[in-house]
Amino acid sequence: MAAELATLKDMPAETRDGFRMPLWVNTGLVADVARALERGAEGIGLYRTEIPFMIRDFFPSEQEQLQTYRRQLEAFHPRPVTMRTLDIGGDKALPYFPIQEENPFLGWRGIRVTLDHPEIFLVQVRAMLRAGEGLNNLRIMLPMVTSVHEVDEACRQIDRAVSELRDEGFAIERPQVGVMVEVPAAVYQVRRFARRVDFISVGSNDLTQYLLAVDRNNPRVAGLYVSYHPAVLRALEYIAREAHKESVPVSICGEMASEPGGALLLMGMGYDVLSMNATNLPKIKSAIRGVTKIEADELLQQVMGMDDADEIHHLLRRRLRELG
Ligand code: PEP
Ligand code: MG
Repeated sequence: MAAELATLKDMPAETRDGFRMPLWVNTGLVADVARALERGAEGIGLYRTEIPFMIRDFFPSEQEQLQTYRRQLEAFHPRPVTMRTLDIGGDKALPYFPIQEENPFLGWRGIRVTLDHPEIFLVQVRAMLRAGEGLNNLRIMLPMVTSVHEVDEACRQIDRAVSELRDEGFAIERPQVGVMVEVPAAVYQVRRFARRVDFISVGSNDLTQYLLAVDRNNPRVAGLYVSYHPAVLRALEYIAREAHKESVPVSICGEMASEPGGALLLMGMGYDVLSMNATNLPKIKSAIRGVTKIEADELLQQVMGMDDADEIHHLLRRRLRELG
């Protein structure tokens, strides 16, 4: 197995007819970085910055954050590293910043919290920018966005941090900025977002939860949480098409990219990057290397004509078995 992994590491994620599909990883801890590199990841599509915040007793200072971020950026350099601004609330709690709500998934989450607390946002953005000084592989990504106002406000703050740091003598490049599409409202505004930012990334874990009205952590309704629901697939296809109308690249960083069937469908839809947990990267690379792009496109067409998630799931399993 170790030998197999090592061989696969240096092979491109390329279909049998020569179509390249960049495979990136999702990280949270420093340890994830080594594993990701071992498996041949070409970039970080989602660094969950709230994880280093969760394992502390208080908000880390700008200097502490800078050191943590610098480690990710250096380890992956020159490959791109996408840092998500703090995504707390919902299922992600900080012990020292309690949020009590009746309905946390519909409450104060992600960008809503950080825009209400510019001091938290600005410190984090400054730490990211300083960590990226001289490396130029930083990308900043905004979670739980529902309106262009939030995008504009966040970009304004990022620009402010860039100019403050330049005034302080740091050599800061403005990083690429992207928006996560995680809620239905965002799906229908992809083009508007795309005109404002450099990339779009789909958070399919949350998007599935909000499209299907199924709490992603509630075991009682776990059977209803289906990534291959026709509504989810339709939304994913629409997002890619809309982003591309503005010539903006679109990636996915939800768990769907970690499933071979999901990865093939997303490739067919035209996603530019698939970002996943490092553990599943070799499996996804094998799946991609086992098909032609034409086969993936045909599979997508067939699936998009189907009405039922179970049928879709069975078809994907059967096709993946046939394809070896
Ligand atoms: C997602 O929602 O798909 C996502 C990648 O973010 P998280 O799982 O951290 O909410
Ligand atoms: Mg999310």
